Parts: sequence; C-alpha cells; structure tokens
Amino acid sequence: MQSDEKRVLTRADLDALIGALAGRGYRVVGPVLRDQAIIYDDIGGVADLPAGWTDEQDGGRYRLERREDDALFGYAVGPHSWKKYLHPPRLQLWSAKRGENGFAVDREPETIPPFAFIGVRACEIQAIAIQDRVFLEGPHVDPHYQARRAGAFILAVNCGKAAGTCFCVSMGTGPCAKSGFDIALTELTDAGEPIYVAEAGSATGMEVLSGVSDRAAQPAEIERAAAVVARTAATMGRSMETEGLRDLLMNNLDHPRWDDVAERCLTCGNCTMVCPTCFCTSVEDSSDLSGQEASRSRRWDSCFTMDFSYIHGGSVWASPKSRYRQWMTHKLASWFDQFDTSGCVGCGRCITWCPVGIDITEEARAIRENPGQKAKS
Ligand code: SF4
Ligand code: SF4
Repeated sequence: MQSDEKRVLTRADLDALIGALAGRGYRVVGPVLRDQAIIYDDIGGVADLPAGWTDEQDGGRYRLERREDDALFGYAVGPHSWKKYLHPPRLQLWSAKRGENGFAVDREPETIPPFAFIGVRACEIQAIAIQDRVFLEGPHVDPHYQARRAGAFILAVNCGKAAGTCFCVSMGTGPCAKSGFDIALTELTDAGEPIYVAEAGSATGMEVLSGVSDRAAQPAEIERAAAVVARTAATMGRSMETEGLRDLLMNNLDHPRWDDVAERCLTCGNCTMVCPTCFCTSVEDSSDLSGQEASRSRRWDSCFTMDFSYIHGGSVWASPKSRYRQWMTHKLASWFDQFDTSGCVGCGRCITWCPVGIDITEEARAIRENPGQKAKS
C-alpha cells in the first residue's frame, strides 16, 4: 500500500518516529559513525546518526569529510549492508548437549525482535529483494533468514548524494526507492535546518508516520524532493552498460581481460564480504573438549577462497583468474539463470573496498570494447 499524501518531518519528528518504532518493539538499527566509516549499528534516536558528515569514495578509497550542513543522510553507502542482520556473518544452526539418554539437539532458530532499518537506500532495498529471492522464494526456505526478515520495518532514504563508485542508475535500482519500504524520506538541506519529505509505503508505515506528523508536504517541497533525486541520478560516479551483458560475458570466458585482472586481484574476498547480495557460506562443526556439547555454525565464505570450491582432488577454481571470473560472471550473468535477476545492484561497495581498486564496471567495459578475443594459452 502506498499513500499519495506526502508528509513533512522535522528532525524532532524523525526522532519521535525512531522512538515510536522502539516503543512498538522493534530493534532499531541505522547508520552511525565509527572507526572513520559510516556503518550500521543499534541506534536510540537521531543523535546517533552521522549529522554533518559525507563520504568520498573511489576505487580502493573511502574517506569521511565534513559537510557544510547538518544533513543526517548526506553520504552514500559504507562497508556494511543490512545483510549483516538478515544473513549474519556467523550463525549457529544447531547445538547439542549430551544427556542421560543421548544427545538432545536444539535446532530452533533464535527468537529475535523484528528489525527496524533506518536509512535504507534504494539499491539496498533491491539487494534485500534479491536475498529474499535466494533465501525465501526457492524450493528451500532458509528458516534463519525467514525469522530475521519477518516483520522488518524499512525506513528508506532517497539518496541526496551519489558516491564516486555508485552506478545504481545503470542497474535500474536507484537512487529513488520505488517500493519495498514502509516509509521513504527525502532529505531537504537547501533551506537551513534539514526537513524530510516522507511517504508511506505500507499500512504500518502510514500508521507510524501519522503518529509523528500531520503536516502535508506542499507542492514546492515535493518538487524540491524530486529535484534532489534527479540531481543524484545525474551525478552517478560510475556507469555500466547492461544491454546484452549476460551473453557478452558468457561468450567471452576465454577473454584475455581475465588474465589482466588476475594480475591485479589479491583474491582477498573483500568484494564478496561487502557485497549486499553475496550469500555464500560454509558450515563448521565444533565440540567441547569433554564431548558433552557440540554445535554447527554457518559463516560467510567467499568464492575467492580455495577451500570454498574444494571437492575430491582439489579446488574447482584453483587460479585467481578462475575465481575472479566466477565471481563477476555469477554477479552479472549466471545469476539471471538462477534467480531471474542481476546479482549486482550497483552499490559500488566492491569497487571502494577492493584494496587494489578493481572496478567491476571497468572490467565489464574492457570486455565489451574488445569482444571475441581469446587469451593465448
Ligand atoms: S577483486 Fe579486489 S576485493 Fe575482490 S578479491 Fe580481488 S583484490 Fe580482493
Ligand atoms: S557486485 Fe559490487 S556494485 Fe554490485 S551489488 Fe555487489 S558490491 Fe555492489
């Protein structure tokens, strides 16, 4: 459900909204400033948000800088994504305790309060939708993801600034949230103290919004909000031509560019860790020394590790070239075959957080500009 009526919130209203969500039992999580980056963590109100900060991003580069205003959302995306809550880096799948009659196994997903995510960007909403497709819409539903995703409240923010590594416009995912949110805000910073043009995207969103503001947005404010996202769309740091991209990559698996990128790639796996859609995991078992307790955990893994593709006799992706090619062709090509969607939403994190600045848009462009070449064997 989406309401056509847009409201205006002040900073105090937004603070009240966050308080209202906490009062309804949500665990409220949002952007905070920590260790010289903007990451996601629990928040108690707008005082915890990174007011007056922005980020400068490029290949292998991320820096925070002061803004000239007090914008609460005047930056793009940082190293964290919401996947750390919905699909945590480490998760216990079951535990077992030895008793008089043998082992008693506990495999119930943990009970957790519903999340309220504050400041979700349009590309991140699409990333969540992609993970929904992977974990909930296939033949095997993941009960852990399902428990965490159920009842999550999404307060989206339409981007007022594109990072140097953003390319959501190319991927059709941003910078304006079109659906998949409970409330969407656009921050207006052009007239002193920031204000927020808000629209509800669900019945719960409308209820929460109505509880904190009854001031309807004026046509001029709605126009200013539209101008904010139009300006952001026009200033994307990167772009990627997606027309025919799946076939282009699948028809160029022997292209010499894969050798070129392998010369630069450290196979560190950072790109997969920061990517909001990557979902690969490995399973580990452990037991205590007395043999009384055992547990099985799932942890994020990466197609850049040798172990991840290890089968009888060795790793399928033994070379850096094969690992990078697997990652990029999965994101941009074979993901369509598996899930009917691209695995990339254009958030740019893999470019920013690659220590050597490898740029997925540049790699795709290099193949497009010289298709059909074959590496010398
Ligand atoms: S592309 Fe960059 S981030 Fe990804 S594995 Fe290679 S060096 Fe690491
Ligand atoms: S592949 Fe890179 S740009 Fe695309 S969604 Fe993942 S981290 Fe973002």
